[in-house]
Amino acid sequence: MSLMLALDQGTTSSRAILFDRAGSIRAVAQREFAQLFPQPGWVEHDPMEIWASQSGVMAEVLAKAAIAPADVAAIGITNQRETTVLWERATGRPVANAIVWQDRRTAPLCDALRASGQEPTFVRKTGLVLDAYFSGTKLKWLLDNVPHARARAERGELAFGTVDSWLIWNLSGGAHVTDPSNASRTLLFDIHRGEWDDELLGLLDVPRAVLPEVVASSGVCAHAALAGGTVPIAGIAGDQQAALFGQACLEPGLAKNTYGTGCFLLLNTGRSAVWSQNHLLATVAWKRGNTTEYALEGSVFIAGAVVQWLRDGLKIIRSAPEVEALAASVPDNGGVYLVPAFAGLGAPHWDGYARGAIFGLTRGATAGHLARAALEAIAFQSAEVLRAMESDAGLKLSELRVDGGATMNNLLMQFQADLLGVPVVRPKVAETTALGAAYLAGLAVGYWRDDGDVTTNWQVGQRFEPAMSRDRAASLMAGWSKAVERAKRWA
Ligand code: ADP
Repeated sequence: MSLMLALDQGTTSSRAILFDRAGSIRAVAQREFAQLFPQPGWVEHDPMEIWASQSGVMAEVLAKAAIAPADVAAIGITNQRETTVLWERATGRPVANAIVWQDRRTAPLCDALRASGQEPTFVRKTGLVLDAYFSGTKLKWLLDNVPHARARAERGELAFGTVDSWLIWNLSGGAHVTDPSNASRTLLFDIHRGEWDDELLGLLDVPRAVLPEVVASSGVCAHAALAGGTVPIAGIAGDQQAALFGQACLEPGLAKNTYGTGCFLLLNTGRSAVWSQNHLLATVAWKRGNTTEYALEGSVFIAGAVVQWLRDGLKIIRSAPEVEALAASVPDNGGVYLVPAFAGLGAPHWDGYARGAIFGLTRGATAGHLARAALEAIAFQSAEVLRAMESDAGLKLSELRVDGGATMNNLLMQFQADLLGVPVVRPKVAETTALGAAYLAGLAVGYWRDDGDVTTNWQVGQRFEPAMSRDRAASLMAGWSKAVERAKRWA
């Protein structure tokens, strides 16, 4: 019996999952690790703890499934994106904590680059916007602030990597690689040419000597030493791109939405990067052989987090799943709209000064209406991003594949289908991120033959068909738009 091992290194925990040929889960191990907040707006991880937790769950999952390293066909890696690690090549020791994607310390640096007119160059080459979210300015910060780091980097003594590179370095004993789905999140990588870019390196003051080699997302790039054996590392992708693959969105026009704390929507746009008119990101989906495929990406900052707010802020529910029954206690939103712009609004509005607001309250409004309005807000925001994507890509979505914690909410899924007017489909295997990494690796070593296997394995768990009239959906959407306009430019 041979299995595929996926390592899913997330923001709050490291997981290892064994999959079989049917794409079913055989064993899972998971370990949380510390989130470090040294100053307001700063978020760090200890890279050694990332590695310890990841190698720990890897050993644990093999023990759980009672299999030897020889029974692992290959390893696929997927990771929290953009988080930045800098380490010594000679010792493998990090020179500082990892700067996590959520960290805002380089916002002033981004402002300065914008003020000096550099944003269009970054947008054109990388498909991103100039934001502290991405790795490039984080790396510059480390080179500027860790004692001697820049001189050492220039002498070739230091290695930079996103978390995929950091794990592979440790797994393999010194291979220094990344894949284009991760490289495309650094602000240093030209997504059209598929190479690190000297002009961008110059703008961010990053010496080429720190960079990993960019290898394909699917292909053997190194070997991992594992409990006395070695196993090929054959797949790498950032978490959202891996989920797109795991959802079998392998053709242009297929899209997935992950409903977690926020929402991440990715639409496969095929072999060309689509230029967004609506401030969405163009990003590499994956590279296989010599072919790079791209995606449009849009995110909603507050999605499942609005349910956490009902629980922890308003205390009208005790657990997230309770929101569904509370929302179902009323037949509709009763005219109540909740705009969860707690952290401003992302695509397609991009208003950092918008703030949360509730509209349409009357004496008849109940906690049920609030719960419903909160769930509907998740769907309204996702619908807006999807419409923006369709307009950018010039195509019409035929269904939306979904995953993430909040997709367990059937009322939310049904409302999403109603609003979009297309089916919303939840797959049987909800671990799409890890599965995508397993597929990328398994296809490279012949564990799966071709994309047909991936498509066949992808099975519908539940399908939500739109049932609402298009008039009703349009009128709800109009109500939402009116509410959003009034929440903008508040702070
Ligand atoms: P993340 O990976 O961002 O931590 P998860 O995919 O684990 O997110 O999903 C957790 C989020 O989903 C939380 O914000 C939680 O409030 C929300 N959530 C969990 N269950 C439900 C539910 N039944 N209905 C609505 N939201 C839910």
